[in-house]
Amino acid sequence: MAILEVLHIPDNRLRKVAQAISNVDDSIRELAKDMLETMYAENGIGLAATQVNVQKRMVVIDLSTEQSDPKVLINPEILDSSGTEEMQEGCLSVPDIFETVERPETITVRYQNLEGEIIEESVDGLYAVCIQHEIDHLDGRLFIDYLSPLKRNRILKKFEKQEKLQAARVS
Ligand code: ZN
Repeated sequence: MAILEVLHIPDNRLRKVAQAISNVDDSIRELAKDMLETMYAENGIGLAATQVNVQKRMVVIDLSTEQSDPKVLINPEILDSSGTEEMQEGCLSVPDIFETVERPETITVRYQNLEGEIIEESVDGLYAVCIQHEIDHLDGRLFIDYLSPLKRNRILKKFEKQEKLQAARVS
């Protein structure tokens, strides 16, 4: 197992679109383990492969407080959605920023588990929000894309400035 590097905005690799996983094999199961370990180390509740610079359609989620309920969703897709809900979201790729985002409240999601079995379920609440947030990552979309341009630009500027400061320190 290994802890992977999580990309932060404004890194353009977060905008790449992930490819479907055609075969759930040991390398995929290994990646799932590494992603869970990385998510736990960063105290996150969800992580998409895109965030660790792997362009494969896989996300990991654990909403328990004891890091005891790991979920791995391979090739997840939303088949149906209804209602709307507002929830405050954060993201390991946008550290320390929390903003309210409106999304569908209930979704029907289809994905494969680590055994390659196809699962279809209807979910709501935080789990539904988390799945939508993570699938967005696989499509190169970030939760700040849902904010007003003014808010989004303010956040982007903050991170661009940090990146410049860091670059100046390194060189
Ligand atoms: Zn995120």
